[in-house]
Amino acid sequence: MIVVYSPAYVVDIGLHVFPTRKYQLVHDRLLGDGVIQPGDVVEPQPAEWDDLALVHTSEYLTKLRSGTMRVEDLAQLELPWSPEIVAGFRRMVGGTITAARIACGVNTPRNVVCHIGGGLHHAFPNHGEGFCPFNDVAIAVRVLQRAGIERAAIVDLDVHHGNGTAFIFESDPRVFTFSMHQQHNYPMWKPRGSLDIGLPDGTHDATYLAELERALPTVVAHQPQCVFYLAGADPYEDDQLGGLRLTKAGLLQRDRMVFEAARAAGVPLVVTLAGGYARRVEDTVAIHAATIAEARLRA
Ligand SMILES: [Zn+2]
Repeated sequence: MIVVYSPAYVVDIGLHVFPTRKYQLVHDRLLGDGVIQPGDVVEPQPAEWDDLALVHTSEYLTKLRSGTMRVEDLAQLELPWSPEIVAGFRRMVGGTITAARIACGVNTPRNVVCHIGGGLHHAFPNHGEGFCPFNDVAIAVRVLQRAGIERAAIVDLDVHHGNGTAFIFESDPRVFTFSMHQQHNYPMWKPRGSLDIGLPDGTHDATYLAELERALPTVVAHQPQCVFYLAGADPYEDDQLGGLRLTKAGLLQRDRMVFEAARAAGVPLVVTLAGGYARRVEDTVAIHAATIAEARLRA
């Protein structure tokens, strides 16, 4: 199985609830557990600015490039600015593009390709927010569309609504956006996606999995040529930014259901990690690593 990853994802954002070191920890754990071998890992190039411009406005990209973000911009992004941070996230977008090309390319499509990164679903065309400077999945969809792969579906199971993604594809019927999230949580404004399921606070495994089981056939019915999965670790019961109550076993069952739905439909799947802010970073790492280990069984 191919996994996409770069050490450049670990960037210094100061004291922060978002542990950027989780990417390296997941990578190291997968290697240590023998789930992946060094030869399985593909290191991506940074996304081209022209590719970023398939989704983002030139005004916004100029601000990011030149370091002329205003105080309000940075407050909304909830990240500091540095050349290293911009470079790290550009490379992470490159990672999702690379995974999408490998998984869904016209030549030799694969069942599943995992990206140890990505899932930056809060970024809008003209601004970044919620730790997301660029919308990697939306950019990868646009790159695929440019190559003639038009129909895509996005299964966003981060605890937070995929607001930027929903907004970007609001008027593109070729792209099905599904988000299942905690309703009373960030972001306040949730632009309508193709299918949105807002769950009450404290939702447990059984209800969550029943809702997912009901929703997945609708995603498949869209007949996507490529499915992107945002396997957020933040629906976990001990997450600092999430208010759902999923166990690790429940999250793994969630992953299996998504993998099985894509496999049964014969659609290639691109897995991205998205959020994860457990009190103990080891829990976030264990949840992400379990997602990729399960994907390997399906590859
Ligand atoms: Zn999240």
